[in-house]
Amino acid sequence: MALRLYAATTSEGKLRDFRTAAQAFSVAIDPLPAISTIPAPEENGPTFAANAQLKGVYYSRFAPGEIVLADDSGLEVDALDGAPGVRSARFAADTGLVDSPDANDNTDIWNNMVLLQRLASVPAPRRTARYRCALVAARDGQPLHTAEGSVEGLILEAPRGTGGFGYDPLFYLSELKRTMAEIDLETKLSLSHRGRALAALLHILRS
Ligand code: IMP
Repeated sequence: MALRLYAATTSEGKLRDFRTAAQAFSVAIDPLPAISTIPAPEENGPTFAANAQLKGVYYSRFAPGEIVLADDSGLEVDALDGAPGVRSARFAADTGLVDSPDANDNTDIWNNMVLLQRLASVPAPRRTARYRCALVAARDGQPLHTAEGSVEGLILEAPRGTGGFGYDPLFYLSELKRTMAEIDLETKLSLSHRGRALAALLHILRS
């Protein structure tokens, strides 16, 4: 039977990732109807999993009876003690460089600039990092299932590639000798934090 889920995200990059990865499971993913008109909840959880659950529980109340997917994701850099972590979307905003993550379309560029500046004195072998994603399926204000995924990489000293979003031009995959912004979407999702978390969650929902 065809399964249709709603994704509680306004990020075009995340929605594209979800939809592409879900095709292999014959699952349709649509944006939660009218999500742009729903006030966003404060993402103040200490972990990706806590924030994903908070979003799933909140947004699923706006689509009664439907399964709603919510994720929280971000970058952990070892030389920065795991920062930006749950603050990944607001890394530059937190420094006071920009008013808010939505102040303009250059948030990703500002975030990447702050990351490069923070790592300026860190040599290549110590620039280890990972993307993490926590994904929650919720219905009628109740969490149903949770899944997590991660992928290891290195932070380059200059951006490479034009694909992806967020920190992708700086996130280097040693095995592929490419950044996340230099690989096609199918390859990205076969190994990315979000692709892995979604595959795990869809396995659970399908069984
Ligand atoms: P949130 O999950 O919406 O709170 O924000 C996640 C933030 O982490 C994004 O705004 C990006 O800066 C970063 N991020 C998460 N996943 C990815 C990815 O797949 N590529 C690049 N950046 C990502």
